[in-house]
Amino acid sequence: MKQLAKKILSILCVSVLLISCLASSGCQQEASGTLFALDTYITLRAYGRHAQAAVDQCTGEITRLENLLSTTRSYSDIYKINHQEGPVAVSDETAQLITRSLSITEETQGAFDITLRPLISLWGFEQEPRLPEEEELLTALSLSGAGHLSLTGHSVLLDPGCGVDLGGIAKGYITDRLVSILEEQKVPGAMLVLGGNVYAHGTRENGKPWRVGVQDPRDEHGIVGVVEAQDQCVITSGGYQRYFEQDGITYHHILSPETGYPADSGFLSVTIVSSDGTLADALSTALFVMGPEKAEAYWKSHPGFGFVAVLEDGSLLVTEDCHFTPETGFAATILQKG
Ligand code: AMP
Ligand code: MG
Repeated sequence: MKQLAKKILSILCVSVLLISCLASSGCQQEASGTLFALDTYITLRAYGRHAQAAVDQCTGEITRLENLLSTTRSYSDIYKINHQEGPVAVSDETAQLITRSLSITEETQGAFDITLRPLISLWGFEQEPRLPEEEELLTALSLSGAGHLSLTGHSVLLDPGCGVDLGGIAKGYITDRLVSILEEQKVPGAMLVLGGNVYAHGTRENGKPWRVGVQDPRDEHGIVGVVEAQDQCVITSGGYQRYFEQDGITYHHILSPETGYPADSGFLSVTIVSSDGTLADALSTALFVMGPEKAEAYWKSHPGFGFVAVLEDGSLLVTEDCHFTPETGFAATILQKG
C-alpha cells in the first residue's frame, strides 16, 4: 500500500513538473518554415506552444493571398482586372487593399502608385529587363495614373491598356495578415522575413527586442546598422534589390511616376519602421521615389512610422523614433519632429 502511494505521488510530481514546464518559456516549442513565394525567399520563425500551428497557418495564408493578388496567375483578382474587358468583380479584401493603395497615392502625391503596370511591364523586371525606347515610355506613362482606375464597391474598371500592380504594397499587406495569425495563436515571439520585408513579433525568448540589420546597399554582406524592433515591421526598398546594367548605367525597379525612369532621388535605400505593414511597404517605395527633402517633410507631417535611409554618399538619414544604432563607420543625421 505504501509502495502504491509512493508511485502515485511520484507520477503526480512528474505531471506537475511537466505542466509548469510547458507553461514556462523553458519548454517553448520552436518552429520554422521556408518557402519561395511572392517572387522572393520567405523565412518564418516562431516560438511558443502554438508555434508550429502558427507557422503552418502562415504558410497557407501566403499561398492564398498570392493566388488573390498576383499579376501573373490567371485566376487572381489582379490578373482579371488587368486582362478582362469591362468592370471586374473582386473580393472584399482586394477592394479594400486597392482603396488603401489609392489613399496612399493621394497622400504621397502620386509617388506610390499601383497603376504603373504599363511602365513596369515595359521595363520587364520580372522576366527580361530592358531599356525601353523614349516613345514606348511616353505611351506607357500616358496609360499610368490613378485617373485610369475606378472602384465602385467591389467592381473595378480600368481604361483599356492600363493595369494594376501591387508589387510595392502586397508583401506588407500579407505581413499584416500573418501578424493576425500570430496574435490569434498567442505566439509570444516570431520573426517573419519576406525578402526585404521583416516583421519582428513580440520579443526574443530572452524577453529582449528583436535586432534587425539594415542591409548596406553597397555591400551585400554588410549592414549599415541595427533596428531594435518589437511588434514592428522593418521594410526596405532599395535600388540594389532588382536591377540591370547597360552601357555602364544601372537601372533599378522602383520607378518615378513622373519620368517613367527608375527613381533617381538621391537614396540608395529606404527602410520604414512601423507597426502597420501595409503602410510601411507602400511608404518604403514612396519615400525612395521622393528623395531626402520630401521624405523628411512627409515624415514630419504624417504619424505612424519612422525611417532609416541610405544616401548616395553612403551616409544615413535616420528619424529619432527608430531605435536604430549605426555600425561603426556610418555617419547618421538624426531627424527630429519638434
Ligand atoms: P518595393 O520593393 O516595395 O519598393 O516595391 C517595388 C515594386 O513595386 C516594383 O517591383 C514594382 O512592381 C512596383 N513599383 C515600382 N515603382 C513603383 C511606384 N512608384 N509606386 C508603386 N509601385 C511601384
Ligand atoms: Mg514597398
